[in-house]
Amino acid sequence: MKSDIRVCSAWHDRHNRPVYTLSSTCPECGAPTENSAPAPYNPDDTYGDYRRARKRRRAEE
Ligand SMILES: [Zn+2]
Repeated sequence: MKSDIRVCSAWHDRHNRPVYTLSSTCPECGAPTENSAPAPYNPDDTYGDYRRARKRRRAEE
């Protein structure tokens, strides 16, 4: 089943946490939203994931 919930595409830059909405634009910053389902390998997300992965790896060492 496909989710209708969308997430602000710019939340990495503009918010402290993902902003979920059913609208096609973010209610807080007006940026376009994207479907929240295919998250892990969205090119727009790699920055945040990379940053978090690096931080996590550092913490383990
Ligand atoms: Zn936003």
